[in-house]
Amino acid sequence: MDCIFCKIVKGDIPSYKIYEDDLIMAFLDVNPVFPGHTLIIPKEHTLDINSIDEETLCHIMKKAKDIANMIVNSLDADGFTLAQNNGFVQEVKHYHLHIIPKYKRKMVINIE
Ligand code: AMP
Ligand code: ZN
Repeated sequence: MDCIFCKIVKGDIPSYKIYEDDLIMAFLDVNPVFPGHTLIIPKEHTLDINSIDEETLCHIMKKAKDIANMIVNSLDADGFTLAQNNGFVQEVKHYHLHIIPKYKRKMVINIE
């Protein structure tokens, strides 16, 4: 299957991985809305909220809390948003939960 996130799981394309276990992986979004923007994905390919199995979904939500707080602490963020797109608004057709840190101070992203 030609799925970019499956390729990340296999290590066929690079990612900046910040967490991994048997079921899931978390890595930095390549086009961050704010610094530390992270995606959590199941390692097994599945489309969206309707197709993911509930055990994996619950595991992702539990880990999202831990990972989000770790990001907030390490980047001195002031809060975070969890978001997950389905249907036509979902660009990458492999389930992923966005963790988007939010900052009270103005943030500038340098793209080199
Ligand atoms: P969505 O609209 O929820 O499907 O968002 C897809 C997200 O995947 C976007 O925020 C992209 O920046 C991100 N993305 C696409 N390709 C990669 C990649 N190779 N590595 C990391 N993030 C990616
Ligand atoms: Zn996939």
